[in-house]
Amino acid sequence: MIPPSARPLPAIAQRAQRLRTSAIHDLLQLANRADVVSLAGGLPDAASFPADALREASDRVLREQSHAALQYGPTEGIAPLRAWVAAHLRAQGMDFTPDQVLITSGSQQGLDLLGKVLIDPGSRVVVERPSYLGALQAFTLYAPEFVGIEADVSGPLPEALAAALPGARMAYLQPRFSNPAGRSIAPERADALAALLRAADAWLVEDDPYGELWFGAPPAPGLIARGVPQGVHLGTFSKMLAPGLRLGWVAGPQGLIDKLVQAKQAADLHTASFNQMLVAEVLRAGVIERGLPVLRRIYRERRDAMLSALDANMPEGIAWTKPDGGLFVWVTLPPQLDAAALLPQAIARGVAYVPGETFNVGAPARNTLRLSYSTVDAPTIRGAVARLAALIHETMRH
Ligand code: PMP
Repeated sequence: MIPPSARPLPAIAQRAQRLRTSAIHDLLQLANRADVVSLAGGLPDAASFPADALREASDRVLREQSHAALQYGPTEGIAPLRAWVAAHLRAQGMDFTPDQVLITSGSQQGLDLLGKVLIDPGSRVVVERPSYLGALQAFTLYAPEFVGIEADVSGPLPEALAAALPGARMAYLQPRFSNPAGRSIAPERADALAALLRAADAWLVEDDPYGELWFGAPPAPGLIARGVPQGVHLGTFSKMLAPGLRLGWVAGPQGLIDKLVQAKQAADLHTASFNQMLVAEVLRAGVIERGLPVLRRIYRERRDAMLSALDANMPEGIAWTKPDGGLFVWVTLPPQLDAAALLPQAIARGVAYVPGETFNVGAPARNTLRLSYSTVDAPTIRGAVARLAALIHETMRH
């Protein structure tokens, strides 16, 4: 008899064969060492999680509403949370009713549900270069044909979007403080892109997890607020509160939300009732309003440390974005340098980053990398950036 371990497994779906762990993911495992400063992860600062407020809210919810909190709930999400999201979006110029809001298990689930409901094999999906890796992964399962569009400091180029839109099913964009580029769409550019989308027969999916993490003035509204009726907005409590709660939302036209609700019912019935009630309670108590200024101050200080360290240490010929919010800086090296090839040496010197090629559909842009300042204090950021800059300097001289 063949021992169980040697028996070949039955077939898996073709769809699942598209799932891969990337070589970069494996490389970054090497960075999980105490002597390596990771500028690679995009995690929020854990010391800022409002643990005490959540503990008190949790006590209250369990004392006063335990039956609902521990019971199955509606697929759409609980009413107070949907109402809060609708009001939050209205304050940013987006006109969605609470019925047009679906509470999801993180906005990542929203991306997956949108993939399920909108993408047929071969559907054209337009994304910026670079784009959020998790969105590319979520959509990839549904076998789209990705079209990457170039961008400059003001955002995606209108002529690139105009060329990509005919026949497209969906465009996926991040209007504010994007992951990984740390880039926002400038107001005039957003007007031009919104006009193109308004005239197109394609969905606009606008993903905005970082919009509240601004450092100067509140950012300009995205494209939906400029009038794109087929616009679908994705948001999350992950960066304002805590990602471990896994609470996000999708807001969009009613017909699409109804379909997404059906897809979500099939996926997980509903988002955790307890977590939703906990966050509704925390919102009622004003925890987010009080917490956001603190978060903005912490991340601004770290952003400043990173930008001044880049200024002070990087050799000529290196460019980087100067984000006004969010968690990321995008660095462009001279064209002959390969950020993935350089990563093991950077790790050996105690600093890790994410090579940029993984964030791109189409040509890989091997000379780019993403730095995050979110989890490390300012002095540590300065040291790590100086070591990285020294490595790049030496590599350029060879
Ligand atoms: N979109 C973008 C652009 C992100 O950066 C992230 C998180 N890194 C997500 C969506 C998913 O966030 P969550 O599922 O925690 O809401």
